[in-house]
Amino acid sequence: MKKLKPAQRILDLPPYLFKEIDDKKKLLANQGKSILNFGIGDPDMPTPGFILEAMAREMRKKENQKYPDYEGCGTFRNAAAKYMETRFKVNLDPSREVIALIGSKEGLAHFSWAFIDPGDLAIVPDPGYPVYKVTTEFSGGEVYSIPLMESNGFFPDVSKIPQTVTEKAKVLYLNYPNNPTGMLPALDQLKEVVKWAQKNGIIIVSDAAYAELVYDPSRRFSLLSIPGAKEVTLEFHSFSKTFNMTGWRIGFAVGNSELVAGLLKMKTNVDSGAFEAIQLACVDGLSMIEPFILSQIDTYRERKEALLTVLRKFDWDVFPPDGAFYVWARCPKGISSKEWTLKLMEKTGIVTTPGSGFGKNGEGFVRFALTQPVEVIRSIESRLGAILYSA
Ligand code: PLP
Repeated sequence: MKKLKPAQRILDLPPYLFKEIDDKKKLLANQGKSILNFGIGDPDMPTPGFILEAMAREMRKKENQKYPDYEGCGTFRNAAAKYMETRFKVNLDPSREVIALIGSKEGLAHFSWAFIDPGDLAIVPDPGYPVYKVTTEFSGGEVYSIPLMESNGFFPDVSKIPQTVTEKAKVLYLNYPNNPTGMLPALDQLKEVVKWAQKNGIIIVSDAAYAELVYDPSRRFSLLSIPGAKEVTLEFHSFSKTFNMTGWRIGFAVGNSELVAGLLKMKTNVDSGAFEAIQLACVDGLSMIEPFILSQIDTYRERKEALLTVLRKFDWDVFPPDGAFYVWARCPKGISSKEWTLKLMEKTGIVTTPGSGFGKNGEGFVRFALTQPVEVIRSIESRLGAILYSA
């Protein structure tokens, strides 16, 4: 029926690459194949007990069961501001520069609605988290893909952006520690990009979903700690990966008060805020982040080292990550990342994510998520042996 036809913006979406991978995974599992999923960025470890206990306490309180404040409750915003100061030396006014989110994906999507007009241009990293591009296009905006090249440490080289693009651009998306490459930038690269954004009046959306997952804690950073960054930046933080809370849906955005206000106005009209009990459980989480996060990082470090060791035994070209929980690895020559992912899955049961799902420049790579225990990672050696000797 004609009226059931989806909106054009939905019809314009490309076929979902990950669905094909998922269908194949299910098919193989149904046929009895043992599947090891390194595909999705969803931590396998549980939410820590101190957050579960706080949640059990807070959810029972009647006052926490009502519609929450749109911007997040004062206790949550104060705790987020304090956290930013303690962990990143960033000073914020919790009443104007902090807003609670129902996960950072929600915030990123509503940011585009709030700030991108039809015809506006957003500079989006390629490879990158697909949400930046899709939500820019949903808002009628145009996307300029900036390549993340190995030669520049997988950081965008803004000096190579054509002047006409810089003049037109409204937003630049940055995401460090980076998904999918796991890389971190040098301090000078951050300073340079902030200077460039200030000079050209460009908003920086800093996606800090993995901010806490840095193998060398001395390199943990917030873009807002760079002098002048707050003038132009909205930074998105998430509890999903830090505290193994992907299903809870909670995060926050911090930074320039006008950007926070714009996002709030949009959210006020489309959602009704994050469950207050979850916000309050997260207040406990933020105050108790250490030593929990150090042990998380140790676990990911051990997994990363184990995976790099196995992959190198088979001469895989791998990029040792600085953070997040991913390993970016080059596919063999002459095979696309999708074909390589499907072949790997069929022959070995190992599921990865094809780099092409993150953009044109992701072609030729696959991403491993370190979401399997170290023993499982070590065990893939025998499986990878099988693919070497099979046609
Ligand atoms: N940003 C990046 C780079 C991600 O990889 C993800 C999730 O995979 C998100 C944001 C979304 O996280 P959240 O669970 O907070 O919505």
